[in-house]
Amino acid sequence: MFVVLLGPPGAGKGTQAQRIAAATSLLHISTGDMFRENVKNETALGQLAKTYMDRGDLVPDEVTIEMLLERIGRADAAAGAMFDGFPRNVVQARALDQALAARGARIDHALLISVSDQELIARLGGRWICRSCGALYHERNDPPTKADSCDRCGGPLYQRDDDRPEVVRTRLEKQKPPADLIAHYRAAGVLNEIDGEQPLGVVTAALLEAIR
Ligand code: AMP
Repeated sequence: MFVVLLGPPGAGKGTQAQRIAAATSLLHISTGDMFRENVKNETALGQLAKTYMDRGDLVPDEVTIEMLLERIGRADAAAGAMFDGFPRNVVQARALDQALAARGARIDHALLISVSDQELIARLGGRWICRSCGALYHERNDPPTKADSCDRCGGPLYQRDDDRPEVVRTRLEKQKPPADLIAHYRAAGVLNEIDGEQPLGVVTAALLEAIR
């Protein structure tokens, strides 16, 4: 099964993807995590991606698509995957459709998590990530037991550079799922819209229900 998670930055795609991956055996593929890993390891791809990420812009399609196609070509993605943060536009969606079609597969579900702008701004300011295991927390909605350390592994928590208020504004302007991307999955008959302002567990349950 192949699933895409759509939604604006701060809608909860990453958090929900981690929860769905834990509840099912679906492989979680996040292009944002892949870019952050490359930035951390100071690879050539990371250096290139960082110039876009720091401004709140999307990394160019050709770079992102190549990275994603390489990832889904690996053995662990043979049976399925859940994409978080990809596709961001129709060009990326078509590239993914084509790659899946070549192996006799398709996107089975596109889950759109909707959240109002006002709520997104409040959320993006309060996010914390574990530097060791990548677990996600939110000051208000899903706080860690101890302010500075991860409940899961005890690792230190940090805030993303691109969660700064001035970058958040650009990301919200430029990175909402465009109407033609949503239309692409609606036309394929696989779109499900979920109200992302409900409590965390209610959203997870609705997403799991949609893919079962
Ligand atoms: P995310 O963790 O999904 O918010 O992604 C963090 C940053 O990585 C974004 O602001 C973009 O700069 C970049 N990025 C992630 N996924 C994509 C994508 N599918 N296309 C282009 N840029 C992306």
